[in-house]
Amino acid sequence: MNFLSLFVRNLVHGPYTDPFPFAPAPTAARFRGKVAFDPETCEACRKCERACPTGAIRFERTPEGMTFDCWHDTCVFCGNCAFHCPTGAIHQTADWHLAHLQADKYLQVEHGLIPAIVCSSCGGKGLDSAPAIGKIKPPLSPEETQELRSLCPKCRAKYLKDRRQRA
Ligand code: SF4
Ligand code: SF4
Repeated sequence: MNFLSLFVRNLVHGPYTDPFPFAPAPTAARFRGKVAFDPETCEACRKCERACPTGAIRFERTPEGMTFDCWHDTCVFCGNCAFHCPTGAIHQTADWHLAHLQADKYLQVEHGLIPAIVCSSCGGKGLDSAPAIGKIKPPLSPEETQELRSLCPKCRAKYLKDRRQRA
C-alpha cells in the first residue's frame, strides 16, 4: 500500500490509537493494574506478603494495629497476591496511571490499617480483622462474625471450639 492510499484509508477509518492523554484510554477486561487493599475484609493471614515475588507488600505491627503497604513502583503486576488472598481483600484494579515525578516516588503506595482492638472477652490485644471464614463450618452469621471480630486470637479459637462442640 503506497503512502497516498494509506493516508486516504486513515482519513476514512480514523486513528488506530487512543487519543490519550486528551481522553481516557480504556483497558482490556481482566487488566492487571494497581493493587488495591480493603482492610475491612482482610484476615491478616499475610499470604499475599509471602506470595509476592518482589517484596512489594509489607505488613507491620504497630500500636495502632497492623499496617499494610503495597509499593506500586516495586509491584510487577503478576497477580499472585490476589490469587492467594482467601477473601478478595487485595485485588488488582484497571488503574495503570503510574507515571510520576522522581520526587513523588515515596508516595506511590497503597496503604491500609487493620485497627488494633482490646479483646471484649479477656482484655488482651487483638486485631479487628475478618475471621478466617473459609475454615469455619457451618458458616458464621453476621452477629457471630461481629462477635469474633471483637476477640483476640486466643478467645477466637476458644469461641470456635465451643461453637463446634455445640453443633
Ligand atoms: S501483583 Fe505481584 S508483584 Fe504486585 S503486589 Fe501482588 S504479588 Fe506483589
Ligand atoms: S486476607 Fe488477603 S489481603 Fe489480607 S493478609 Fe490475607 S492474603 Fe493478604
